[in-house]
Amino acid sequence: APVEEEGAEETNINVVVRCRGRNDREVRENSGVVVSTDGVKGKKVELSMGPSALSNKTYQFDKVFSPAADQGMVFDEVVAPILDEVLQGFNCTIFAYGQTGTGKTYTMSGDITDMLPIPDAAGIIPRALHSLFARLGEDDVEQCEHSVKCSFIELYNEELRDLLSADDSIKLKIFDEANKTGRASTLVQGMEESHIKSATKGIQLLREGSHKRQVAATKCNDLSSRSHTVFTVTVYTKRTSETGEDFVSAGKLNLVDLAGSENIQRSGAENKRAAEAGLINKSLLTLGRVINALVDKSSHIPYRESKLTRLLQDSLGGRTKTCIIATLSPAKSNLEETISSLDYAFRAK
Ligand code: ADP
Ligand code: MG
Repeated sequence: APVEEEGAEETNINVVVRCRGRNDREVRENSGVVVSTDGVKGKKVELSMGPSALSNKTYQFDKVFSPAADQGMVFDEVVAPILDEVLQGFNCTIFAYGQTGTGKTYTMSGDITDMLPIPDAAGIIPRALHSLFARLGEDDVEQCEHSVKCSFIELYNEELRDLLSADDSIKLKIFDEANKTGRASTLVQGMEESHIKSATKGIQLLREGSHKRQVAATKCNDLSSRSHTVFTVTVYTKRTSETGEDFVSAGKLNLVDLAGSENIQRSGAENKRAAEAGLINKSLLTLGRVINALVDKSSHIPYRESKLTRLLQDSLGGRTKTCIIATLSPAKSNLEETISSLDYAFRAK
């Protein structure tokens, strides 16, 4: 029997929930609050499903953030430990999953207008960049040589677009790459990978790419709700051994703002046909299958069935860490979508 990779036994998939407060519209329409949590940062989320508390439904997750949890808390609790893994050379992925309008982009990017001081509403990506460069400047880490690259792509209708490229009409192609560890990985031909020497530079690229995406979204109505973006930071570390040999390790952090979860429905087989007909989001659907297969320790993980999962193949499963942040609206008018988001997130545990 093949020797199991160390750590391959446990699935390193964390699922957390973040519920925002009611927005102006939900308040204006008098849509009641149906989501409650056990504190600002707890483990439980409870849905009021009817007039009596008897019909309430409770879910348990690794972490649950109430509307009072701020961007800094989400970063400290969820992202900081993952960043440590990346610095040790592991590939990690953080997904924001949820209905459109529930805070995926707020959580992943948030306020990216200013660099310093970090705005209160800055999300995971700017905070991760700041924290990364602060860590690389620390004494124990400084002994090695580092370089940092980032890329930023958008996936819409199973087509990849480079948000860092001057010509963003080019559709990027994914190729398989056999790497030395035997773990399958893929290569995106022609993808821009920018060397960055500071957090400021990384945030600038994020801002430029996000701007391009917004411009395109005004021309194409459902682009922003049906497309995924992947911002990847790769950290290369060169260490020199006592015998003078150089070793380079690389750790990757993928920060993924997924298409709105309203783009998939619940049942299985039916969805597969609908996805093939282009009616629902193939990458979002396949991501769910890949995560379920990893959780079930299935012998076949269907990475190859969508562009998103092919792209992230070397960062999902095995010795990688994955975190799914499910974002929710607290309002009664969104209850049905909230239930399906929580069911999806719960299956990933
Ligand atoms: P999505 O990307 O899921 O469609 P957005 O991130 O664009 O949703 O959020 C929709 C709106 O709600 C935005 O105006 C955003 O600033 C606001 N918002 C979302 N989550 C929060 C939160 N936790 N705190 C404050 N405002 C939020
Ligand atoms: Mg968004």
